[in-house]
Amino acid sequence: MLDLSEIKTNLFERFKYIKMPRMRNILIIQDEILSSLRDFLRGEGFVEILAPIIGPVTDPGIRGAKQVSIDFYGHHFKIMSSMILYKQMVVSSLGKIFSLSPNVRLEPQESLATMRHLSEFRQLDLEIAEASYMEAMDLGERMLAYVVRRVKKNCREELTSLKRSLKVPNLPFKKIPHKEAVDLLLSKGYNVKYGEEIPWDAEVALSSMFDDPFWIYDFPLTARGFYDREDPDRPGILRDFDLIYPEGYGEAISGGEREYLFGKVIGRMRSRGDDLRDYGWYLEMLKEGVSPSAGFGIGVERLTRYLCGLEKIWEAVPFPKLPGIASP
Ligand code: AMP
Ligand code: MG
Repeated sequence: MLDLSEIKTNLFERFKYIKMPRMRNILIIQDEILSSLRDFLRGEGFVEILAPIIGPVTDPGIRGAKQVSIDFYGHHFKIMSSMILYKQMVVSSLGKIFSLSPNVRLEPQESLATMRHLSEFRQLDLEIAEASYMEAMDLGERMLAYVVRRVKKNCREELTSLKRSLKVPNLPFKKIPHKEAVDLLLSKGYNVKYGEEIPWDAEVALSSMFDDPFWIYDFPLTARGFYDREDPDRPGILRDFDLIYPEGYGEAISGGEREYLFGKVIGRMRSRGDDLRDYGWYLEMLKEGVSPSAGFGIGVERLTRYLCGLEKIWEAVPFPKLPGIASP
């Protein structure tokens, strides 16, 4: 059971905690993670861009979390829950892009217990023009293996202090279709459904069954948003994926190919009951034409949590904001 008063001490007395060797070790590893992500992507020809923080509309696909609205000179604006809608704009110009993008999501209070939900976090968000979801997965696993190698090499002392032994994962990672993941979980008695995202407790159970990171792919259409591309040859299946960390750490990455044709997106929005008026600039952009693309987001704090072997994600960020707790 989580001790709420202990969590609050940890958050409200951060100025003490942040000076402790444990927190210093974690932040040094996080610095290595950030520089190795950047080095890897630059080596692959990616261009880093600055992420927007606010806009008239943001990512609607945030699984039960709430978006934050602000008054922007009399207009209703949102704080980015993710920059997904902007990625298609810039990838059409630069081809391969990434950003370390800040996200705010008011996650439900009960998600505190998962120990992997923050209400403010950062994603390394990337997008590749003309790529398939398989190519994006290939890049994702090479990127993770590179980061693990660099952290092992350059943060030996910090990892030892944290008692974390890390192994560089073998490539390629195992790929499990969503349907098979659901079958496996059903056979173990978990309450999971074919047409939905895998619930948090089942995700941890699945993650605990493996010693290496693995992919879940081919998500059902009904599980996700209008921007995930439906397979033209397999109606009802999205060309989409998640990467799951092993050892019970749960989801690392979500991504896929994008629905990029104006008419298709309109149809998907209508069938979901989205209000088209909210997406003015985005739809104008699609009408003008964007490149087909694929990409993903990897949570930086979750990556830090996994590499450092931390139980609690609020140790993986210097100034954490947690579901339901108004901390500094
Ligand atoms: P999503 O598009 O919602 O799957 O988010 C992309 C990635 O961001 C996830 O795979 C996680 O690594 C990370 N992420 C999403 N929500 C949170 C959260 N509430 N706290 C920390 N990391 C998150
Ligand atoms: Mg996800």
